[in-house]
Amino acid sequence: GEVLHIVGAGMAGSEAAWQAAEAGVPVILHEMRPQVGTFAHRTGLCAEMVCSNSFRSDDDRNNAVGQLHWEMRAANGLLMRMADRHKLPAGGALAVDRDAFATDVTEVLSDHPLITIAPGEITDLPADGHWIIATGPLTSAALGRSILGLTGAEALAFFDAIAPIVHADTIDMDIAWRQSRYDKGETEAERTAYINCPMTRDEYEAFIDALLAAEKTEFHAGEESSAPDPTPYFDGCLPIEVMAERGRDTLRFGPMKPVGLTNIHRPADKPYAVVQLRRDNALGTLYNIVGFQTKMKYGAQTDVFKMIPGLQNASFARLGGIHRNTFLNSPSLLDDRMRLRARPNLRFAGQVTGVEGYVESAAMGLLAGRMAAAGILGRDLPPPPGTTAMGALVHHITGGADARTFQPMNVNFGLFPPVEAKGGRRGRKDRYPAYTDRAKADFQAWLAA
Ligand code: FAD
Repeated sequence: GEVLHIVGAGMAGSEAAWQAAEAGVPVILHEMRPQVGTFAHRTGLCAEMVCSNSFRSDDDRNNAVGQLHWEMRAANGLLMRMADRHKLPAGGALAVDRDAFATDVTEVLSDHPLITIAPGEITDLPADGHWIIATGPLTSAALGRSILGLTGAEALAFFDAIAPIVHADTIDMDIAWRQSRYDKGETEAERTAYINCPMTRDEYEAFIDALLAAEKTEFHAGEESSAPDPTPYFDGCLPIEVMAERGRDTLRFGPMKPVGLTNIHRPADKPYAVVQLRRDNALGTLYNIVGFQTKMKYGAQTDVFKMIPGLQNASFARLGGIHRNTFLNSPSLLDDRMRLRARPNLRFAGQVTGVEGYVESAAMGLLAGRMAAAGILGRDLPPPPGTTAMGALVHHITGGADARTFQPMNVNFGLFPPVEAKGGRRGRKDRYPAYTDRAKADFQAWLAA
């Protein structure tokens, strides 16, 4: 019969290979490691966990990722079975012994009569045959360029940038004030959602000088060289120092624009620039600096950010940073069968589709593997309903999300259609079991059909 090729034996590719082979379809699993490495992987094993060793919460009643675990177990998921087998004590979380886990996954896949592991990098998107591309956030440079050729630069991101987060109680509110730009918002809370830090012209010029002079981090070894040249950033993600390099006034007309804001401490003085901070958690204890993603070195960041009036004593919960994360603008590129609209013989799965996390990536691999196998066997497999964790995720990336602002997504109850708690209105948390009960029933019906 026809063969399914899968590129990448990470979380998504390993699970996809298992699912397709279990459905009776022969699989060739292409993996570039250990011949070609990434800056994060250490071994040549399948399903290597590159950072933490946790699959997060295993609570399938009250937690969306726990519900996703449940669905993957119900669907004969290999990675969940291996995680359960190599579980470490970790409270409610599913932590695993990463080496034992990856070794076992590799053995099970190698021993499967329908799976062949083919070592080597795939450098071009193939024109014919059935393929799943599951090359992850660290997709090799050559393949990244080939994908770029098909999708265009607007539809493929190479970096994720994060902005620093400040402890709210360390912001000097004798200098800063709360106000949303143009006082926008229905409620008082919305009209005061931002904290603003004013700058005079002299303060702004000194700040720009410091920004330009600050030491920047180099990319991890191999990271920069594996990005295409010139490096495409999503435009909303430009590091501030890159913006400053484009012109001394770029920031003043960008994230630091002073319009629509009045300094309540000195209403007569119009600020030359304003740094805005946005609430980062429901408690209001953390604020992120809007538009301040950066690759300055950590020491330089604290020095430069403390020059911002109001942040002179700030303490940072997290500093900014930038890391490689290749992902497609899936809402504009993929159909709900995870196929590239422009080339339906190519499916994508895992983090490269814009989901975030080991579990989410494996879940998208599970689905892509089943869908591809069904296609080869002459059947059509629709995605699970949006009321399930797996369905909610795949609906989000293939259409539910706004393509213009698409960013990698973890599974969460916000992706599920609302459900009313029994006994009238109650808190959000009381509704979680109602979400997961509905998800389990609907997932089982999908599996049976
Ligand atoms: P991967 O697991 O990376 O698998 C992709 C595979 O494709 C790799 O084996 C790679 O070698 C191979 N490959 C790439 N290009 C080619 C090619 N051209 N030809 C052949 N093979 C190729 N998620 C969490 O849940 N927890 C964390 O702590 C966490 N930490 C992370 C830390 C870093 C540095 C990064 C980059 C990501 C992290 N993630 C984390 C996010 C993400 O969930 C993981 O990266 C996850 O492994 C993604 O699964 P995947 O299958 O999509 O990609």
